[in-house]
Amino acid sequence: MSNRVFNFNPGPAALPLEVLQNAQNELLNYQDSGMSVMEVSHRSREFEEIINQAEKLLLELCGLSDDYQVLFLQGGASFQFAMIPFNFLPRDKTADFVITGSFAEKAWKEASRIGQTHIAASSKDHNYSTIPTPEHIQPVTNPAYLHITTNNTIYGTQWNYIPDTGAVPLIADMSSDILSKPLDMEKFSLVYAGAQKNLGPSGVTVVIIKKELLEKAQEDLPAILSYKTHAETGSLYNTPPSFAVYMVKEVLEWVKNQGGLKAIGERNEAKSALLYKALDESGGFYRGHAVKEDRSIMNVTFRLPEENLEKAFLEEAVSRQMVGLKGHRSVGGIRASIYNAMPLEGCQALAELMTEFAQKNG
Ligand SMILES: *Cc1c(COP(=O)(O)O)cnc(C)c1O
Repeated sequence: MSNRVFNFNPGPAALPLEVLQNAQNELLNYQDSGMSVMEVSHRSREFEEIINQAEKLLLELCGLSDDYQVLFLQGGASFQFAMIPFNFLPRDKTADFVITGSFAEKAWKEASRIGQTHIAASSKDHNYSTIPTPEHIQPVTNPAYLHITTNNTIYGTQWNYIPDTGAVPLIADMSSDILSKPLDMEKFSLVYAGAQKNLGPSGVTVVIIKKELLEKAQEDLPAILSYKTHAETGSLYNTPPSFAVYMVKEVLEWVKNQGGLKAIGERNEAKSALLYKALDESGGFYRGHAVKEDRSIMNVTFRLPEENLEKAFLEEAVSRQMVGLKGHRSVGGIRASIYNAMPLEGCQALAELMTEFAQKNG
């Protein structure tokens, strides 16, 4: 597989090679059906097994019981920004938001078009380089829910604690760090993630919802916008993105075979530690965007002393088979997205480049 590069793209992102190979093997003839998964009915026995298995594996990996339900929806994480307030923000209530990046801001803005919102905390004044500490989160009295973004893909920050909201439902956008480490998922009432970072290809969004919250969803909604519709039909209200769901199932099996979230989490720690070590030991050549306490294990963001050095760094990376490292325009510099599918070797190669490049140009 010498023509495969180390893919640091932020999303769509790298998939495990084994998963791609297995999909390739099954592409023309899925389990003796004589058809591709893409060609079978979403009402068929074959697809039913796939979607049921995906739901079961996701709950298992998250350590959740059947107090929770898994949904496979479309429209990306961005669709959830609207769907959540439509379902869970009644007129007489306010939804609380902690704004830790652009996606968190988008989620808040979308909810503000639908109902009353309040910003419980924001790190915008620090250009989203930090995560607010518990004392800095100031919700309204009795909010409908509190919304957080557990990993800030663009800025490279990640929550290192779960805010205690008591009886108030905690809702999280986990698009870029779902299944990246063991986490007490029972603290959340609803979690969602676009699959294209840590779970599979683009085109499907995973929602994990506590049934207790589902009960409280608004009734007077268009069917397609209602979580109840999708829950009652087992995500088969209309045609689901069936191939993407199949790929998610394959990725979940891979995560389980890696040893589950404990093993995955340890590897992600080791991978990110390699890059942060190269950054911290560069004598100030690299400047990390995130403050140390809130560094992400999924997206590592940093700047070089000059923009032309950043350009040269990216070129050198490409010549060493490392792609997708350009930072987002709102931060600039370099962003290494190192989701579950990025092997340790990719981070070793990048850390090596960082050290050599700093020595040569520092
Ligand atoms: C990528 C991303 C999104 C946007 O996801 P879409 O599926 O493109 O709508 C939202 N939130 C976070 C945290 C992301 O990383």
